[in-house]
Amino acid sequence: MSEKTPFPENVPGDFYVEDGCCLSCGMPMTEAPELFAYAPDGHCYVKRQPSSAKEMWQMIGALTVQDVDCIRYKGKNRVVQIRLIGVGEGDQCDHLPRDLKSLSDEVKADRSGLK
Ligand code: SF4
Repeated sequence: MSEKTPFPENVPGDFYVEDGCCLSCGMPMTEAPELFAYAPDGHCYVKRQPSSAKEMWQMIGALTVQDVDCIRYKGKNRVVQIRLIGVGEGDQCDHLPRDLKSLSDEVKADRSGLK
């Protein structure tokens, strides 16, 4: 995976919402209302990057409930990448190294009952 084009309202940082992807599902507001907001056209965006362990957990929670996989992680922190893989969201990482891509594929296969 490579970086997608972020919606312009996202604050700078590792988490972002992909431009033009949003269906205004509202789900991020259930998990991380202080980290997301909606533009006037209804497109959600990251208004603040997580700055504590609790907020990081909330952000990861938002990725787990999101519709249509618009929220992405472009950082290269392996701990965050492994956390996302663990909840089945490895595909949302733009820069997974090869070993973690393999792990992500295994976890996805496990979660979908293919193994
Ligand atoms: S999770 Fe996706 S579809 Fe839902 S509000 Fe956010 S960007 Fe839009």
